[in-house]
Amino acid sequence: MVPMNLLRGADGPAVYALTGSWGVMAIEQARLEGPVQVAWSGEDDNFSGLPDPEQLQADPLAAYFHFTSNETIQGVQFSVEPDAGSVPLVCDASSDFLSRPIPVNRYGLIYACAQKNAGPAGVTIVLIHNDLVERCTDSLPGYLNYRKHIKANSLYNTPPAFGIYLVGLVARWLSEDMGGLEKMATINQEKSQLLYEMIDQSDGFYQGHARPECRSTMNVTFRLSDDRFEADFLAQAKSRNLVQLKGHRSVGGIRASIYNAMPREGVVALRDFMQDFLTQHG
Ligand SMILES: *Cc1c(COP(=O)(O)O)cnc(C)c1O
Repeated sequence: MVPMNLLRGADGPAVYALTGSWGVMAIEQARLEGPVQVAWSGEDDNFSGLPDPEQLQADPLAAYFHFTSNETIQGVQFSVEPDAGSVPLVCDASSDFLSRPIPVNRYGLIYACAQKNAGPAGVTIVLIHNDLVERCTDSLPGYLNYRKHIKANSLYNTPPAFGIYLVGLVARWLSEDMGGLEKMATINQEKSQLLYEMIDQSDGFYQGHARPECRSTMNVTFRLSDDRFEADFLAQAKSRNLVQLKGHRSVGGIRASIYNAMPREGVVALRDFMQDFLTQHG
């Protein structure tokens, strides 16, 4: 929907920072609507890093600058927004939305599916700046036009009311029980740090995928020094009720997704298991 609304008929290209699998898919979709410029790509590095702000040059005429704040599959996460100058910043924040505070006024558009940190699948959250709403082209079918949704108060169609209600409960849990997004961010930092410390102190037995300065607080991705240990790692983990740790089929290895809903105790249990497994095999 982003390229349909903002790139169709625009004067300039859409610019993308390509930092992982979701970026690949976003670009594929954008090319259906207009010219795309890739301002930076981590592909040659197996998507283990992120651009320095100085490495980014967005064409000032660009329709928008798109980035993925957290690449869910590779486990690389921007700690600050890339600098796109005067070009509207568009972000796929699907896998870290509500995991930390962000300066919303720096963005032209933020989109996020709910099912990582915010609620059940079936809800998508879009925040769009008023200036960009004006650009949404009338050539689109109504449902695909952001302006139509806004005009109809997000009731253009019958929305999934129950899913939206759950997102409301999660938002209340975050603000009232967790004490706000600052607190949630600190907890998420601490959780991920437990695993990254384990990786860093394992003498290379565990090898983190993301470069240390780009590490995600949401998806901790790593390999075992010997791939032959992987099946055993997953089986033993499962016997301790530590499940869904297999990395995405496109990259392999191990991925611990530790979204808001994963309590610290769960991460500690994984860290302790990693220590035991290392003692056994290291
Ligand atoms: C999960 C995710 C999506 C959306 O996934 P759907 O299965 O299409 O809802 C998009 N972008 C990122 C970065 C994600 O993590």
